[in-house]
Amino acid sequence: MYDTQDTIAAIATPIGEGGVGLIRLSGPQAIDIARVLFAGVRSEPNWASHRLYYGHIVEPDTRAVVDEVMVSVMKAPRSYTREDVIEIGCHGGPVPLQTVLGLCLRHGARLAEPGEFTLRAFLNGRLDLSQAEAVLDIIHARTEAGLRAAVGQLEGRLSSRVRAIRQELMGALAYLTATIDFTEQEIPPQDIGPGLVSLRDSLLDLLGEAENGIIFRQGVRVAIIGRPNVGKSSLFNALLRANRAIVTPIPGTTRDTVEEILNLRGVPVVLVDTAGFNDQTEDLVERLGVERSRAALNQADLILWVIDGSQSLSDTERALAGLLNGRPAVIVVNKVDLPGRADLGELSAAAPPVPLSALTGAGLADLEEAMLRLILGGKVISADGPLVSNPRHEQALQRALDHVQAALCAYQQGWPTDAVTIDLTLGGEALGEITGETVSDDLLQTIFSQYCIGK
Ligand code: GDP
Repeated sequence: MYDTQDTIAAIATPIGEGGVGLIRLSGPQAIDIARVLFAGVRSEPNWASHRLYYGHIVEPDTRAVVDEVMVSVMKAPRSYTREDVIEIGCHGGPVPLQTVLGLCLRHGARLAEPGEFTLRAFLNGRLDLSQAEAVLDIIHARTEAGLRAAVGQLEGRLSSRVRAIRQELMGALAYLTATIDFTEQEIPPQDIGPGLVSLRDSLLDLLGEAENGIIFRQGVRVAIIGRPNVGKSSLFNALLRANRAIVTPIPGTTRDTVEEILNLRGVPVVLVDTAGFNDQTEDLVERLGVERSRAALNQADLILWVIDGSQSLSDTERALAGLLNGRPAVIVVNKVDLPGRADLGELSAAAPPVPLSALTGAGLADLEEAMLRLILGGKVISADGPLVSNPRHEQALQRALDHVQAALCAYQQGWPTDAVTIDLTLGGEALGEITGETVSDDLLQTIFSQYCIGK
């Protein structure tokens, strides 16, 4: 299905103006195409691998100079795709980049599909599938902890664990399959029960990391709600000042409410201030009946409910406590720098109250602590970052676990060997989908279509 015989080309840097822009070529003709277009300051009969050449891209027919460039040469197999790769460093404007790309296409290259360079790296065996996916996660990482998890995945931390588990599984499968074909004299009997139990436990361990790992990769939505003037916007700003994330803002989010990304000790948090519907009506509960407000609340993974600690509670707030019951929420008792009046006894059942002053910053660290506890469920993440952070991997691990558990059950009940081997085979296939050892073209297409062109 995939053609890797031709030479692909694309602009590898973002669209727009920049200091430099990069055209990438990969495939058997990459060097020939570049040489047709390139006029070097010094003429070299042959390009050496892993060298930079300074010169110009020249329109071959008219000899018109298009741009001043640096060309890097990486010959197969020591390249990103394991094919001959050329990178042409141009000036970073859309016109020089499009012109140079156009010349490459006219002289034998084909425009690369999204993610096709990385797909070739996978097809040519330079990266396995989970490593190829890590490339995408590195590009999209929102916090340093998310980046660490993705880099670990690129280095093969997940792959080597999954391969080891799969090997164990294949060992048990090989033994069982042999017992079908050979007699007990030929194959000494062996109890694979303990092996299956340890397989199951390894899968459970990995899955245990997945929930938080996915949080590090995708982040969580935290909505700030409360009556007008309790200090929601002040809290929003106080949290942001302490933790502004590397990357803002997220594309595609609605602007009904104010949203910013913050970095909560490595967890990317989309913080939503519901100020957008703040003063439409005094009655908070009524406002939460408004569809848009309710949506903001329902989409939130965690709610920060701000009350004014210097005022006595209103009926609205008592009603809201009921509405929030059972939802992950923190009650932020704000304005503790003022003399207190709120009686929290009746509210604390809804969520743990955290006293705070958005004005002075007192209690901010406690609030972050309480948020993290609720987001991560009290689990601690290793310094290297979580091993599993991709929902696709989590689903494959879950399927593998289900099959291993079914196989274990069948084995312990003394069912016919076939009943055990079928589930072990399916479990092995599920694990192979993570590293790409067993993977369909459809799945590859789904994964690589998420990449940008040029990656
Ligand atoms: P919102 O309507 O809930 O978003 O509330 P704002 O953040 O706009 O705050 C309302 C008023 O309360 C402003 O005058 C703030 O300066 C004040 N305020 C907010 N937080 C505190 C606090 O912790 N202590 C004190 N003393 N005033 C605060």
